[in-house]
Amino acid sequence: MTGRFENRVAFITGGSRGIGKSIAETFTEEGAKIAIIDIDTEALQNVQSEFKEIGFDILALQANVVNSHEVEAAMEQVMKEYGSIDILVNNAGIIRDNLLFKMTDNDWDQVIDVHLKGAFNTTRAAQKYMVQQKYGRIINISSTSALGNPGQANYSTVKAGLQGLTKTLAREFGKFGITTNAVAPGFIETDMTKATAERIGVPFEDFLKAGASKIPVGRVGKPRDIANAVAFFADENSSFVNGQVLYVAGGPTN
Ligand code: NAP
Repeated sequence: MTGRFENRVAFITGGSRGIGKSIAETFTEEGAKIAIIDIDTEALQNVQSEFKEIGFDILALQANVVNSHEVEAAMEQVMKEYGSIDILVNNAGIIRDNLLFKMTDNDWDQVIDVHLKGAFNTTRAAQKYMVQQKYGRIINISSTSALGNPGQANYSTVKAGLQGLTKTLAREFGKFGITTNAVAPGFIETDMTKATAERIGVPFEDFLKAGASKIPVGRVGKPRDIANAVAFFADENSSFVNGQVLYVAGGPTN
């Protein structure tokens, strides 16, 4: 397989479905070797088989991004099998939406942990290899919710936090040939938005239609829309693009 990611190894968190899986597909099609981590072992096995059916071997490893030991062990395994970690995509995410007065300690802690502790754990583990290689591409998945969204105090906090992390790492790692950027998706059709529709009791089709009506391009996003933007930042030729946040939302965000 040839392509712009030939001989590159991409490590994608939360890669067994939705946006993460689509990023894995895009990178594979363009020649990368792929490692994904996720919590759900059955989902990991399924996605590994799906890739196998279309002729690609991927590493699908069980690791919780919140647990630094599991993350480090997964990266060590990737290094052993593939010899480098060139691209890190911090995509794993959860939502625990509620208005602040109803938000529980758990709702807050879990969202902070998965997105922020998770990105910290994976990035700290990956930079060890990237600095040595003098090459790396780190892409954090933020959200338009970073700009504020009622019912998502926890989620908008972490998505804004990831933008701060992105800009800081861009400054820390730039001299090692490592760029750090963020993609901030708008409304994307995945299990995550499906769960939101279920929670508020609206059929998913109606939820998608209502979302599309507010988006200038007249449709909601697909995971591939995000994968395309991630691939731009991950490209070797994007070496002068560092510390940026790209909103991918079918229209402007202000
Ligand atoms: P999704 O379909 O719910 O997928 C999220 C993935 O993250 C799942 O595979 C999940 O694994 C994994 N994950 C969750 N917690 C994890 C943990 N502790 N360790 C490892 N993996 C974990 O969501 P999505 O819509 O594709 O979202 C992907 C990213 O895009 C998230 O960061 C999300 O916040 C962001 N985003 C999404 C939208 C949207 O409209 N969909 C908009 C803006 C930003 P399990 O199946 O094992 O739970």
